[in-house]
Amino acid sequence: MRTGNTIAAIATAVGAGGISIIRISGGQALETAEKVLDKSIAGVPSHTIHLRRVVDEGEILDQVLVTVMRAPRSYTGEDTVEINCHGGPLVTERVLEAVFKAGALPAEPGEFSKRAFLNGKMDLSQAEAVMDVIDAKNRYALKAGISQLNGRLSEAVRHLRGLILDETAWIEAALDDPEHYDLTGYPEELSLKTEAMIRELDGLLKNADSGRVMKEGISTVILGKPNAGKSSLLNLLAGSERAIVTEIAGTTRDTLTEHIRLAGLSLNLTDTAGIRESDDQVERIGVERARAAAADADLLLVVIDSSSGLAEDDTEILASAEGKNAIVLLNKSDLGNVSPALYEEVKKRTSHPVIIFSAKEGTGLPEMEQELKDMFYRGEIDFNDQIYITNARHKDALRNARNSLLEVRKSIEAGMPEDFFSIDLMDAYEALGTITGETVGEDVIERIFEKFCTGK
Ligand code: GDP
Repeated sequence: MRTGNTIAAIATAVGAGGISIIRISGGQALETAEKVLDKSIAGVPSHTIHLRRVVDEGEILDQVLVTVMRAPRSYTGEDTVEINCHGGPLVTERVLEAVFKAGALPAEPGEFSKRAFLNGKMDLSQAEAVMDVIDAKNRYALKAGISQLNGRLSEAVRHLRGLILDETAWIEAALDDPEHYDLTGYPEELSLKTEAMIRELDGLLKNADSGRVMKEGISTVILGKPNAGKSSLLNLLAGSERAIVTEIAGTTRDTLTEHIRLAGLSLNLTDTAGIRESDDQVERIGVERARAAAADADLLLVVIDSSSGLAEDDTEILASAEGKNAIVLLNKSDLGNVSPALYEEVKKRTSHPVIIFSAKEGTGLPEMEQELKDMFYRGEIDFNDQIYITNARHKDALRNARNSLLEVRKSIEAGMPEDFFSIDLMDAYEALGTITGETVGEDVIERIFEKFCTGK
């Protein structure tokens, strides 16, 4: 880690815009900036803004506003200078070059946030939330990111770690000094406390799937026999003509993925080759992929062509969708073939909601949106009393902590000596510490921050 160095990068998106910000952070931030400015900023108070010119070898590059934030009251916790220059890519690039010439090193991706973490300005889960906020693709993901950035998850984790530490400290003390501590009845007491902690972890883990779905989108697969209208549905949802719609059965041979927003949710839609028995080798590969994709999907959209009645393929697809999240769309309703008898027959063969639909005219889309919301969020998401785990790393850590606590419970039930409890309690403590970053190795930290964008 080069914490001693002064680093610089463009913090804003590169492109024509009102302003671009060049961020400089490190022990020499002020001195470095000073070298490219026409007038000194040496004595200025922290958190003030100054009008200056950027000068490189006598040439005026731009007129800028310079923000000075002295350590530790900055994002990184180090002395920070932000040069607000005009937003053109060329001018921004030239100002940055001048800053490099003055001695700053190019910042690595995520290096400002990494420094913020290493300097204790935020914990690891909060640093990760910074990227979640930047990457948020829908308003739920954004809310979850902001809540994590504000430390909701960190608080819950610290609370649990505190409880665990109290117990281990007590056990250690009692084992060291049996004359003054009495362990009679303690296993029963610890058992109750462990149960409470497991329940708390269960509460956090319960939302991990909605959390993941929120952040990454609902992985959705469209199923249906050839010509049912799968590509048309994808096009309707995506609002574009990406998938090729044709009247020849079996033309959608490969899979296409489209990221779309619907009712505040994100769907990652995969259009697949129609599921049906096929002799065609090429199409068979597509069909297999469709089956595999369907097996891993969060949601299946089953498209049935109402104009051709319910075929054997349709009933098979409906049967394969049982036990999963699915919505059945009785498509091509605009052709007027959806009879009450057909509707009832489909209803009989599925436990999922059936919607009278037309991919051509958009009929049934509001009903489909409502079903999605009910299915994934059971109404509105309440961020006031729920913490959403959106990060696979956090979910793993919570699971590991839970497993260790289950071991504690086992040891208690088996009447093991107290030092056995300590070992598993400490494992749980360590696992939880990986979320906030107290107990992670350098390699994990590297891996997390290298996924960040440069300038953040
Ligand atoms: P896929 O093979 O399941 O992907 O089906 P396509 O989306 O390629 O559609 C097959 C044919 O059905 C095309 O001619 C579409 O225009 C037509 N089609 C799809 N959805 C509808 C619909 O809701 N109403 C009508 N009338 N035609 C549709």
